[in-house]
Amino acid sequence: MTTLLRPARTVLVSSIILSLALPAAAKTPVATGTGGAVATISEQASLAAIAILNQGGNAVDAAVAAAATLGVTDPFSCGIGGGGFMVIYLAKDKRVITIDHRETAPASFTPTVFLKDGKEMDFDTVVASGRSVGVPGTVRGWHEALDRYGSMSFKQVLAPAIDVASKGFKVNDTFSHLVQDNETKFALFPATAALYLRNGKAIPAGTTLRNPDLAKAYRELASGGVKAFYSGKMARAIVDAVNSNSGSITLADLSNYEARLRQPVHSTYRGYDLYGMPLPSSGGVAVAEALNILEGYDLKSLPRAKAEHLYLEASRLAFADRNAYLADPEFVDAPVAGLLNKDYAARRRELINPTQASAQAPAGDPYPFQNDMSVPLRPNANKLIAEGAHTTHLTVSDKDGNIVSYTYTIEAWGGSGIVVPGYGFLLNNEMTDFDFSGPAPNVPEAGKRPRSSMSPTIAFKDGKPAFSIGSPGGATIITTVLQTIFNYVDLGMSMPDAVNAPRLSERNGMATDVEPNFTGSAQAQALEKAGQHWSKTPEEIGAANALVFNPDGTVTAVSEGHRHGVGSARVQKSAH
Ligand code: GLU
Repeated sequence: MTTLLRPARTVLVSSIILSLALPAAAKTPVATGTGGAVATISEQASLAAIAILNQGGNAVDAAVAAAATLGVTDPFSCGIGGGGFMVIYLAKDKRVITIDHRETAPASFTPTVFLKDGKEMDFDTVVASGRSVGVPGTVRGWHEALDRYGSMSFKQVLAPAIDVASKGFKVNDTFSHLVQDNETKFALFPATAALYLRNGKAIPAGTTLRNPDLAKAYRELASGGVKAFYSGKMARAIVDAVNSNSGSITLADLSNYEARLRQPVHSTYRGYDLYGMPLPSSGGVAVAEALNILEGYDLKSLPRAKAEHLYLEASRLAFADRNAYLADPEFVDAPVAGLLNKDYAARRRELINPTQASAQAPAGDPYPFQNDMSVPLRPNANKLIAEGAHTTHLTVSDKDGNIVSYTYTIEAWGGSGIVVPGYGFLLNNEMTDFDFSGPAPNVPEAGKRPRSSMSPTIAFKDGKPAFSIGSPGGATIITTVLQTIFNYVDLGMSMPDAVNAPRLSERNGMATDVEPNFTGSAQAQALEKAGQHWSKTPEEIGAANALVFNPDGTVTAVSEGHRHGVGSARVQKSAH
């Protein structure tokens, strides 16, 4: 590397690339050490975060670097064509901040946008079209995070991702299978087919995939900042891509987009203080309500199956409320205070039979527990839809104790399927997170953000960071975060065991979702004795990433040990 005569910034960028090229320790899903730490589902993304930390960047800088790299290596889960929710702990100020950069409905949206002749349109047809695309929030979110809480520029933090996008990376089995599953959708859009299909078929595992168009998009952000995305050529390309595929979005929709800094949802559980994502994500409220219900039991004294039965029942009740009440707080007066109230949880707990599973639960009445005079909305619960593991979650800490817990997405695997021509990124289908018909708080409206389930969480004990946790997986995100906390706090598992344990997702449906090989296991049979039963289509649930702040001052980064092709945990200075 001949960097001597280059200007300072180029030297920095080159050395980031150099550090990425250095031989690193082997990929591992668990790592303990000091300094900063990171857990993501992508080796390149975790390396990008560590490179930025080694350059003196903080957790926010490193989180954006990892997220941008995930946009290259995991483009079907996330990217600049989508949005997300970031929870940040600032150690010096002892503050938790959240940045909502959820995709937003264009001004053309109305509550009937997904109806035709009074009937709901076909879900999959809407997904694979411009109708499902919301105004992307990712770039605005990264901008707010870096500008307010980071220490580096877009140019610096995007350098590792630009490097991976330009030089390419090896497509793995998970990546190739995801393309295979989406061949029909991707074939509809020429720019998508050109990038991910070869003669109409998925690019095979082992291929080195370059994405020069995405590298170009990132370079434009590196030089032009947030404006390069929300106005000018890239914005016009987005508008054209959406509107030529039955959507209706304008340049004004893009230039008007704002991220929101929101007060986190704060709850307590057995001596922990939990900070999670507020509305428009239902994640923080639903996790907190379920934990409040569980707190009334001495779970540690119970056999595992009895405790897990209670976990499933608490989750069912929290989901009944989540489905009935929660939506974008700028449009709907949701009874959040009531839902988070411990006395309300006690009322909900009375409905649980400790030895018998209940049928689908109706929503409760949180209004008597609501300490404000909000207008009640009592709509019908919406129906359940199948959830995959789309989306991605990453978590980073730095040597100064700052922490980021960040979930971001383009919604379904491959989002709408529309790659923006010339820019190499997929547009989201987040608008299908709205209910297609009402009455419901979560119906589509102009400028509204669809209800999410993303649940990036940071937990504290005695005022000090204890752990962070989050996952992808649509509405199963809530149950994955809830179950991992339950496994860790109540069942006393180590965090790697808590993450790797079989996942059970009860969302007030007809049956609990489980993973392959669970049905028939001793654990399943023990729960069946209480009437629990399982869906017939087991699928991998979630892809969690966590950090644990150990009493000896070390940090343990924890990723998946077997799901999603195994994740990547790294620390700046290994303890071993
Ligand atoms: N659209 C989902 C949500 O916001 C996230 C995507 C997913 O994980 O399926 O809750």
